[in-house]
Amino acid sequence: MSQFLFVFLFLIVLPSVTLGQNLILQCGKLIDGKSNKIKHEVSIVISGNKILVIKNGYVTGSKEDRIIDLKGKTVLPGLMDMHTHLSGQLSKKSYSEKFYMNPEDYAYRSIPFAERTLMAGFTTVRELGGSISTALRNAINRGDVVGPRIFSAGKSLATTGGHADPTNGFSRSLVGDPGPAEGVINSVEDARKAVRQRYKNGADLIKITATGGVLSLAKNGQNPQFTEEEIRAIVNTASDYEMHVAAHAHGAEGMKRAIRAGVRSIEHGTLMDDEVMELMREHGTYYVPTISAGAWVAAKAKVDGFFPELVRPKAAEIGPKIQKTFEKAYAAGVKIAFGTDSGVSPHGDNAKEFQLMVESGMSPMTAIQSATRIAAELLGVENSLGTIEAGKLADIIAVSSDPIADINALQKIYFVMKEGVIYKEAE
Ligand SMILES: [Zn+2]
Repeated sequence: MSQFLFVFLFLIVLPSVTLGQNLILQCGKLIDGKSNKIKHEVSIVISGNKILVIKNGYVTGSKEDRIIDLKGKTVLPGLMDMHTHLSGQLSKKSYSEKFYMNPEDYAYRSIPFAERTLMAGFTTVRELGGSISTALRNAINRGDVVGPRIFSAGKSLATTGGHADPTNGFSRSLVGDPGPAEGVINSVEDARKAVRQRYKNGADLIKITATGGVLSLAKNGQNPQFTEEEIRAIVNTASDYEMHVAAHAHGAEGMKRAIRAGVRSIEHGTLMDDEVMELMREHGTYYVPTISAGAWVAAKAKVDGFFPELVRPKAAEIGPKIQKTFEKAYAAGVKIAFGTDSGVSPHGDNAKEFQLMVESGMSPMTAIQSATRIAAELLGVENSLGTIEAGKLADIIAVSSDPIADINALQKIYFVMKEGVIYKEAE
């Protein structure tokens, strides 16, 4: 029986090695996401959507195989951004367009944003709030739209008047009383319902707004907005459906409640104190810094009329603090996963975050790993994504100059492959 099984397996594996139609990437330099060292002159053999084998030297395979010459390039795993909003891109009009745009308008408008993100080398994103993310994920998976693989939170969860209450700042005639279906909760029961509703709607994970935020039409950008019991109910219910919870947070008290309640990641984390960092280390919570978003809103706060006056001082005050926080959290040994909050900053500029991370003391190699291996761990998909290893999905990018020598090399992507399909092969 075991002999039979051996022969059977042999027959299945053998043809994919010898019968050809594999893709072979001949790589001058390889950063595989796992090792801290660059490998030189290696070949990655790709069969279908997966990496079959990695070989030393430039192999040519059989006649049928297609060879891609990346000898002059640095090859890396597809980049992963753990905080995006493909449903929009911040502009002066963002506050008024919700009165005249419908979900289908947002959906069509997101198509070039998705394509730009993929062409910027980001083969996976975690979409943290946005009503069209789940449908966009499905359209990309079907092949109808070109874009990154999406892990979607669907609409964020908030409390009444909280950062993601969709009617904040509206006139009384429009404000209504949104509930769990719209992502607004005010009790443990509501919390469970809202999570189950997201599951029903097809979400992959849950996003909560644990504190006030910069861009909402509300005065406080950092107060805690859930009770710890409510967050615990969200986390526990999410866990029943194999979903993790990402917590937007600027103020320390909201972060502490969220971390103790078991969220998987803290987003922005602007005013985190030493106690928060200690709690994050203790609970293994990831930090997704989004320095780009902080820098972007701080710059726009200087422009008259860009933000409503209720938002402007929050943007000016909270925005510039994230980079310092990142520096401290990194030095304190908090686990850091790459995330930009793109949609606040422009889509396709995601790799600028690397520059900000390196400016604050992180090595280029560690910054790259935060957007590959560590991001895959955050998502719980480390068995299929995040590194270039045999058996993993073929999400592979290449750049023309060495990003370890100059991290800005990642802002100019030469080659993009997602699941074995080439989307870009030029600068
Ligand atoms: Zn965000």
